[in-house]
Amino acid sequence: MKNNKFLPLAIPDLSGNEEKYLNSCLTSSWISSKGIYIDRFEKKFAEFTGTKYAISTSNGTTALHLVLSALGCGPGDEVIVPDLTFVATANTVAYTGAKPVLADVERDSWSINIGEIRRKISGRTRGIIAVHLYGNPAEMEEILQIAGEHNLWVIEDAAEAHGAGIKIAGRWKKVGSIGIAGIFSFYGNKIITCGEGGMVTTGNRDLAEKMKILRDHGQDPLKRYYHPVIGYNYRLTNMQAAIGLAQLERINHFLKAKEKIAAGYRQKLERVKGLKFQEQNPGKKSVCWLFSMTIEPPYKLTRDQLMAVFEKNAVECRPFFHPLHTMPPYHEKKAYKEAEFLAGHGINLPSFVTITDSQIERVTEIIKHYASN
Ligand SMILES: *Cc1c(COP(=O)(O)O)cnc(C)c1O
Repeated sequence: MKNNKFLPLAIPDLSGNEEKYLNSCLTSSWISSKGIYIDRFEKKFAEFTGTKYAISTSNGTTALHLVLSALGCGPGDEVIVPDLTFVATANTVAYTGAKPVLADVERDSWSINIGEIRRKISGRTRGIIAVHLYGNPAEMEEILQIAGEHNLWVIEDAAEAHGAGIKIAGRWKKVGSIGIAGIFSFYGNKIITCGEGGMVTTGNRDLAEKMKILRDHGQDPLKRYYHPVIGYNYRLTNMQAAIGLAQLERINHFLKAKEKIAAGYRQKLERVKGLKFQEQNPGKKSVCWLFSMTIEPPYKLTRDQLMAVFEKNAVECRPFFHPLHTMPPYHEKKAYKEAEFLAGHGINLPSFVTITDSQIERVTEIIKHYASN
C-alpha cells in the first residue's frame, strides 16, 4: 500500500475522433445547436439502441423532463419511481407538478421491486420510471406486464446503462427500446460522455415529434417564432454532439473493457466474506457502469471505514445514492428497508475503461487487507 498516486473513480477516454470532430466544428463555425454532428449522433444512437427515434438534449435530466412533459404529466398525477436512484429521476417528475411515489428496491438486483410497484398504484398513477441502476437492467418484463394491466406508461431511466440488454419474451432487447421512451446521460463519468448531454430514445412517432417541438421553445416547426405551447431550450450543441459521436464510435470497445474490469474485480474479491455484488442474471446483460458492491460483517470494516481507508490511500470511491425518502424534498417516515440497506452498505470502485490490472490490484489489495480470517 505504498503507491499514493491519486486513482480516480472515473476518467473519460477521449482518444478517438473527439478532437478531430470538435476542431471541425470550430473551423466550420458550426458550434451552436445545429449541424451535422447532431444529426449523425442522433441517427447512430437510434441504431445503437434499436429504436426508431433518438432526440438529443442538453443533459439526461432535461431528457427525462422532456419525455414527462411530452406525455402530458402534470399536477394531480403520480409517477412511481425507485427509492434508490439518482435524484434527477424524482426531480423531473416534481418539475411537471406531478408527485413521485417511491417504491422500495430488491436486495439482489438493486432495482425497483415488483410487489412494491403493485402496492403503490392508485387511481392517479400515470406511469412508472424503471431505472437501470449501475448498468443492470430492471425487471422490464414484469414492469411492462403491470403497466399493461393498469394502462400506465413506462419510461426507462437508462442514464447509467448505455448498451445494456435484457431478454423480453425470449428476445434480447437493448435498454431504451423497451418502454415508451428511454433516457440516457452523457455526463463526464457516464459510459459515454460529451461533457454534458442527454438523449431520449423512442419508437413512438407522435411522442418524438412533440419532444422535438418542446426541446426548441415549443416553436411550430413550420412557422418561425410562433409558439403554440410553452416549451424549453433543451438543445445539445454541435460541439457536444461531435464529442458524443466520436465516443459512440468506440462504445463497444468501452463496454468490453467494463466487462473485463468487472470480471477482474469479482474474481479477485470473490473469496472475501461479507462482500456482495450486483446480481448476475442470465436474462440480463449488465454494462457495469461503475463496479459496485455492498459490505457487511464478517468483513472487518464498515462501508464508511473502508471509504476512509481508500481516501488515505488516494483511491477515489463513492457511496451509493441516498434513498430518496431520506432527503427533505421526498421525506417519508416509512422505512424502505432494502434501499436503506444498500445505501448504507454500498460502495462504487474505480472502473474507468483505461484502468490497468495493477490499478485494480491496488484497490483489491486494500480491500483484502481487512478481510476476516
Ligand atoms: C446521471 C443520471 C441522471 C441525470 O443525468 P445528467 O446528464 O447528469 O442530467 C438521471 N438518472 C440517473 C439514474 C443518473 O445516473
